[in-house]
Amino acid sequence: MARYTEAVCKLCRREGQKLFLKGERCYTDKCAISRRAYAPGQHGQGRKKASEYGMQLRAKQMTRRFYGVLEGQFHHYYEMATTMPGKAGDNLLILLEERLDNVVYRCGWASSRAEARQLVVHGHFTVNGKKVDIPSYLVKAGEVVAIKDKSRQSDKFKAVLEANSARPAPKWLDVDAANAQATVSALPTREDIDLEVDETLIVELYSK
Ligand code: SF4
Repeated sequence: MARYTEAVCKLCRREGQKLFLKGERCYTDKCAISRRAYAPGQHGQGRKKASEYGMQLRAKQMTRRFYGVLEGQFHHYYEMATTMPGKAGDNLLILLEERLDNVVYRCGWASSRAEARQLVVHGHFTVNGKKVDIPSYLVKAGEVVAIKDKSRQSDKFKAVLEANSARPAPKWLDVDAANAQATVSALPTREDIDLEVDETLIVELYSK
């Protein structure tokens, strides 16, 4: 599976906001956005105002990078979003939010979405009691996502859970920390999603 492997802090600086790509470091004053809040590169501090296309592209790239999804898959989510009732931009973000790797991250069971993806691929989670190792699996309302019993006992998981215990879960996920499981109490709405992006710009970009 292809993945972006270059210095991820550059991506946050390019987009001008925290994308939480590096785990615990993102929550400390070592975060590159706190120290250098301008775009990377020689001309990072003197960029001109973006064109309409530039703003649309940045909105798309920021969202794609936030969720760690490659271009082809991102476009596939957009196409799905346009066939659903409601606003395509809202639907796009909601679909991305429903990904199993995002749910694992939101529950505080991984330090970043990249780590969550790896843990999912390695088969550490179940959905309704059955192992699911597909990061792009979309959870549904009422489903129960859990850490496998054997995985919970490992030192790695104990450390990850302790490190992320203070991070609050969104209200659409009912997390039972004692039993390392979470119920999808309802599907998320746009208001539940903390990414600061104008999703209509993405729709405009893909509608051209
Ligand atoms: Fe982004 Fe995290 Fe790096 Fe800060 S530490 S710039 S939030 S990846």
